[in-house]
Amino acid sequence: MAIPEMQWAQVIESPESGVVYKQIPVPKPGPDEVLVNIKYSGVCHTDLHALKGDWPLDRKMPLVGGHEGAGVVVAKGELVTQVEIGDHAGVKWLHGSCLACEFCRQSDEPLCAKALLSGYTVDGTFQQYCTAKAAHVSIIPKDVPLDAVAPILCAGITVYKGLKESGARPGQTVAIVGAGGGLGSLAQQYAKAMGLRIIAIDGGEEKRAMCEQLGAQAYVDFTKSSDLVADVQAATEDGLGPHAVLLLAVSEGPFQQAASYVRSRGSIVAIGLPANAYLRAPVFGTVVKMINIKGSYVGNRQDGIEAVDFFRRGLIKAPFKTVPLEDLPKVYELMEQGKIAGRYVLQMPE
Ligand code: NAD
Ligand code: ZN
Ligand code: ZN
Repeated sequence: MAIPEMQWAQVIESPESGVVYKQIPVPKPGPDEVLVNIKYSGVCHTDLHALKGDWPLDRKMPLVGGHEGAGVVVAKGELVTQVEIGDHAGVKWLHGSCLACEFCRQSDEPLCAKALLSGYTVDGTFQQYCTAKAAHVSIIPKDVPLDAVAPILCAGITVYKGLKESGARPGQTVAIVGAGGGLGSLAQQYAKAMGLRIIAIDGGEEKRAMCEQLGAQAYVDFTKSSDLVADVQAATEDGLGPHAVLLLAVSEGPFQQAASYVRSRGSIVAIGLPANAYLRAPVFGTVVKMINIKGSYVGNRQDGIEAVDFFRRGLIKAPFKTVPLEDLPKVYELMEQGKIAGRYVLQMPE
């Protein structure tokens, strides 16, 4: 297959430019890289944080965003032996890591100080052809549809890892805060597949209907509840609150609230990354309830393989809407307003 010289992409040209839909050159893979012809890319709220410059972390500029890309390998560098041309591959947030530092040696490669981030420090998946380090792409079995699997490559891996980090066991209850969003909808499916009970927390009737359909035992509407802590605790059978809380929301409030409703011995896992936000918990309550508060950041290569395998086995079915790459600004507008139930997936032009 001939690889063109030029391609369509959504480019952040400067911090003020928004995204610009334009033609740019097709990149060439380095010796340890592959070139992936992206077919579909999910849009993660992280891409919107990157556009807005929300975080204390420098981004590349100009920048092609996107890090939930699924496509076909069309070229590879001379050092690449484990990926073949024609393989289906996923391009993730973790574009590359040094593979030699203490964190990489212990399979904590997201913590590598030299980590490269797709759609943030290197160009990502909102383009037809994207490079990625061969060691870090996820091989996608050929019987897996590339549109539906795209959101697994960030949202799926992240929530699967977060659920493991929570330590919640089958039969226990997890509260999923931001349950109606991209990460939240997938978190409900992974939690269900792992035998957990689910309390979904988000806003509005569309998200309520989706959460009930995805398997939540209870839905607490943060826009309507007058006592959210009481409502979340009342949603557990014994009234003692959830064993674990996954914080996926894009606002700070829930990060201050979770310690008040989590069960004694429970864990709070922060995953959402609202701008300028702080986690808060009373020292007294945290000590005498023996609460465990921690962060969780994407997943390692093995988490990626496991998350895709859950999907392949038919256990993970979360709603997504497909729109053309050109429509990315419309997706960002809906995301900013909190109006997306599930995920949007961009389809690349032919
Ligand atoms: P999204 O916009 O699809 O979903 C966010 C959801 O949070 C929305 O449904 C919104 O209604 C809900 N929400 C907002 N305020 C709330 C509140 N007070 N209570 C309950 N729900 C509330 O976003 P997403 O793509 O699912 O991403 C979520 C967050 O996770 C983002 O900040 C993103 O950057 C972050 N993220 C982190 C990692 C990681 O590795 N830690 C990986 C991917 C994404
Ligand atoms: Zn993401
Ligand atoms: Zn490293």
